[in-house]
Amino acid sequence: MKQWEVVIGIETHAQLATRSKIFSGSSIAFGAQPNVQANAVDIALPGVLPVLNKGAVECAIRFGLAVDGQIAPKSVFARKNYFYPDLPKGYQISQYELPVVLGGQVTIQMGQGDRLTEKTIKLTRAHLEEDAGKSLHEDFHGKTGIDLNRAGTPLLEIVTEPDMRSSTEAVAYARALHALVRWIGICDGNMQEGSFRCDANVSVRPLGQKELGTRREIKNLNSFRFMQQAIDYEVQWQIATIEDGGRIEQATVLFDPDSGETRAMRSKEDAHDYRYFPDPDLLPLIIDREWVELTRANMPELPLAKRDRFVSDYALSSYDAAALTASLDIADYFEAAIAFAGKASAKPCANWVTVDLAARLNKEGKEIGESPVSAQQLGGLVGRIVDNTISNNIAKKVFDVLWDGEYGSADEIIDKQGLRQITDSGAIESLIDSVLAANAAMVAEFRSGKEKAFNALVGQAMKATKGKANPQQVNELLRQKLGQE
Ligand code: ADP
Ligand code: MG
Repeated sequence: MKQWEVVIGIETHAQLATRSKIFSGSSIAFGAQPNVQANAVDIALPGVLPVLNKGAVECAIRFGLAVDGQIAPKSVFARKNYFYPDLPKGYQISQYELPVVLGGQVTIQMGQGDRLTEKTIKLTRAHLEEDAGKSLHEDFHGKTGIDLNRAGTPLLEIVTEPDMRSSTEAVAYARALHALVRWIGICDGNMQEGSFRCDANVSVRPLGQKELGTRREIKNLNSFRFMQQAIDYEVQWQIATIEDGGRIEQATVLFDPDSGETRAMRSKEDAHDYRYFPDPDLLPLIIDREWVELTRANMPELPLAKRDRFVSDYALSSYDAAALTASLDIADYFEAAIAFAGKASAKPCANWVTVDLAARLNKEGKEIGESPVSAQQLGGLVGRIVDNTISNNIAKKVFDVLWDGEYGSADEIIDKQGLRQITDSGAIESLIDSVLAANAAMVAEFRSGKEKAFNALVGQAMKATKGKANPQQVNELLRQKLGQE
């Protein structure tokens, strides 16, 4: 049987986090009544002229810097002509021959733990454009309504080279890009609201063949799960079609989440159908060095640089460091906690942030920015584990109490609820004596070779102190006693 290679290139529309539209002063806030955020420019009244939003250009520059692309000193807006009810001008203003960003790359990570692998996905370009409006087919008494609130919303379209070789790589890329645009503050990444939409171009070719196969483009994937499902379906469909003696026709397809299948929407229009030409209403976009350097000076430390610094500064594994740099909010939270708990607490802090806190946030559907336990509070808690004031188990209880918000700090909870760990070996020894005396049957079991009985005895000692005895000391002293007797 023939071996097939999958080839994927992704186009992403990231909605830029400006306040107003790319060529007009209308708001782009989500959720407004239809057409209240559409002014004369957005609805294309005759005689109106577009005025470029500087904030949108700033976002494009930030992106170009973040992916190490070339920021074009001169780029040009072009008209992409097509007819559609939600496009009142009859053309979309985009960039064509001279986009604002050329090249660049995004590094993706796959796998877990020690088997973390990296790959670089090359970008072709990123260009500025305006979004179209929206047709509303529901609740309209059998008619279709047009909402132009979205028309003119600033987008950055980010296009990759056909560098991905599996749905897993495609999803890893989409996730990395999603994290990056949020990290640099140019897009809120809200996929339900359509702020981050991906099209996946998919083809297959016999392994070893040089030329690319014919692609089909899956439009508007608005979740990572759908992206994975859609590509997996598309790949097996293409392979099955070719193996059955068929041919792939270039096409635009839609993914139907209910059936899990992709379906051809229209055969792909060629670029010249759009009759692109430079928009005479807009001057070329000139970006000078100074503007780029000013923007560079305001860039945050980027995810990969931060990840590497976490590994070298805090001696974390690259797996932990990657988890902590999944978003800027998580990274900032972690560093604020460390600032409080001290560098020596880095590893337990990393565990608390990526495991315990993450699980609780996930359970309550909260983002880290909404955590009821502040970074300082968590740092304070970890500090008490590291200095042996409390055990890890008691710490989980203290964390829950902190979460409820009645107390201000771990120290306060430990004091008020008397949770300080018992580390006085004299006290633990007499505790063990009484546990041994009260549980003669368990002791006998242990002596007859049942190791489980040992754990049961530890459990008794911990229970007698409501978990406050230092578990390690209990273990050691108990071994000693049982060995002595
Ligand atoms: P268009 O603008 O018509 O969508 P492009 O040539 O700009 O076409 O390509 C769009 C995307 O499709 C890019 O991400 C590119 O890498 C990808 N692509 C192009 N050819 C193929 C192919 N044969 N298989 C998979 N992806 C492809
Ligand atoms: Mg395309």
